Amino acid sequence: MSAAEPRATFVSILESELRQQQVGPGIREYKAGEVIFEEGDPGDGLYAILDGLVRISAFVSQSNKHALREFATGDFFGEMAIINNAPRSASATAMRDSRLMFVSRGQVVDLMERSPPLVFALLHAFSHRMRETNSHFVQEMIEAERLSLMGRFARSIVHDLKNPLSVIALAADAAASGRASPELRAQAKKRIHQQVQRLTHMLNELLRVSEGSTQHALEPVNFAAYFAEVIDQTRDELENKKVTVEVQTSVPDVVLPLNTRRLDHVFFNLFNNAADFMPDGGRIMVRFQQTPAEIHAEVEDTGPGFKPGIVQKLFTPFFTDGKPSGTGLGLSICKNIVEDHGGRIWPREVAGCGGVFCFTLPLKTAAA
Ligand code: ADP
Repeated sequence: MSAAEPRATFVSILESELRQQQVGPGIREYKAGEVIFEEGDPGDGLYAILDGLVRISAFVSQSNKHALREFATGDFFGEMAIINNAPRSASATAMRDSRLMFVSRGQVVDLMERSPPLVFALLHAFSHRMRETNSHFVQEMIEAERLSLMGRFARSIVHDLKNPLSVIALAADAAASGRASPELRAQAKKRIHQQVQRLTHMLNELLRVSEGSTQHALEPVNFAAYFAEVIDQTRDELENKKVTVEVQTSVPDVVLPLNTRRLDHVFFNLFNNAADFMPDGGRIMVRFQQTPAEIHAEVEDTGPGFKPGIVQKLFTPFFTDGKPSGTGLGLSICKNIVEDHGGRIWPREVAGCGGVFCFTLPLKTAAA
């Protein structure tokens, strides 16, 4: 059933009841822009739209009127007056030349007393309208939440931009040095190119959040080749922080569905978090295990490990602890990304170890 159907049913039952009772409805015509009723006017009856378009709006502050919704041919409005006999809670304006059928409150109440189908049709139309209003409200709430998340997310991205920018600055300095060999220049060019790509990905991620998109395509990728690039892209930045990455197992040489741009974010984030907790340098150990269904990855660092009592909160958006410039978004974004791949991510508390994060990546998509 379309959303407009219960309303059209009510209007057609109302018309037929009026005919049967030989009550002539009032036909009213309005020019485009003409006000039909104002907020606060007496609620004297309801209107069915025989032909036209009507906007309902209400004051949200003293001077600010907000359009609530629009009704087109076949629909009706002003029914609250029938139900609660109170002044109009909103204004109605014709958005184009409109022909309306006006039925006074007394007439509708009279017809309803005689016709149970009319009562049922009004209730049906009314409950549909409530449901629509509800979902509209939920959408608005989601939008408001998304916009506020956007602002906070922008902060985190701006923070994350600093890492690639410092690598670019170092590489540019090295390349510009009069003593730089052609190899060193070529290497600096490659680094700058990689980091510019990384910046572009981050900005795209920000754009995706701002667009509210949740579509993230996965493509078949060889994991070993992909992970070699991750190491290549992060090595310099980590070396600058005196952090080395040890890959302690073989890297699964298997093709699986990945969105590499997004998965980059998971590795970069786990590595950067580890480095943040090892200000005097340290080691990051990466281990993989392949099962028939998935790749299991583990990232361990030689830092102090998780503070007591915070493990349950690590993936909660905006939870941050022990980092002056932390936003608390990194791990929650990692969780989203891993889950969009169909995997799971969790921390592992091991006595005497630093921070350990594990995550899985399925070898096949859920659909396959
Ligand atoms: P942020 O790094 O901006 O604070 P995250 O979501 O990335 O946000 O991390 C949330 C919190 O998890 C961090 O503030 C820190 O307290 C804790 N954490 C993350 N990684 C580690 C780690 N490797 N070792 C110890 N604590 C960690």
